[in-house]
Amino acid sequence: MYGEPVQALAPNLFESLDLERAAEHRDDADWLAQAWSRGRLIEVDFEGQTPVGADALDTCGASEHAASLPDDACFLGLRGDEPWFARAPATPFGDRRSTIGLREAAARLDAFQSGLFAYAKALLLWHSRARFCGACGAPTAFRRGGHMRLCTDTACGLEHYPRTDSAVIVLVTDGRRGLLGRGAHWPEKRYSTLAGFIEPGESLEDALRREVREESGVRVGACRYDSSQPWPFPASLMIGFRAEAVDPTIRLGEELADARWWLPEEMLDAVRAGELLVPPPISLSFRLIEGWLIEHVGAPAVRALVPPRRPR
Ligand SMILES: [Zn+2]
Repeated sequence: MYGEPVQALAPNLFESLDLERAAEHRDDADWLAQAWSRGRLIEVDFEGQTPVGADALDTCGASEHAASLPDDACFLGLRGDEPWFARAPATPFGDRRSTIGLREAAARLDAFQSGLFAYAKALLLWHSRARFCGACGAPTAFRRGGHMRLCTDTACGLEHYPRTDSAVIVLVTDGRRGLLGRGAHWPEKRYSTLAGFIEPGESLEDALRREVREESGVRVGACRYDSSQPWPFPASLMIGFRAEAVDPTIRLGEELADARWWLPEEMLDAVRAGELLVPPPISLSFRLIEGWLIEHVGAPAVRALVPPRRPR
């Protein structure tokens, strides 16, 4: 039913970060202390802001920040031989520093800086929300270079790991037509692919079929994985699919104000006329739509209308 995936697309945002996570060092206190002395630090506050200079993140030498490794500094990994750490300030930066949020950084900065920021933000946010054990309520302690928290109640001793909230996002097709929906509270003309979180006990494919049916009434059969994207707003992983409808009849659920089938040419005409606003280029939804359009009308026609995603 499907051809080969389109290979010409750029990597997704936050994908293929040029950083070796080097997990084998996470339990080695001596190695981490030595790495701190020659490492670099990114700080992200609990409002998700990080210091920024004119055109780059304002990171610093770790040993300039603190003479020795702080108890709550997370080891992110190695870029070549250079260790990278992340730490949250005690209070938000507010007006003390010039800062940037992740969405703006993703649009302005290069792939390494935005990917590093995404990684640090997600990990530090998890720490801020995992300070107590969900099973017994005792405080948790920082472990494994910041990649685990251990319940301090020895009778409990539960290990807590950073959580990732998985969500499927899907471009549903019916022959040459593609399905886009408009959320109930979205601006007029804004449409996107359908998406939703995976529920306990559900496969990706089952979640995809349930979400599409709940939101649009459309029944989906075969589906194919496309690609994924970390989406740390605050802790999601978007898992992208293409899927084929077996019953294309639209019956709107509560989440959507509208859903429509579009031929590729109709979609391009609508974008050209300003009648359709597609998701921003940093999103996986955009990639799914872009890849589908390119398959049907070719890259030049698509690129003339929608900006290419940021080069690496
Ligand atoms: Zn516990």
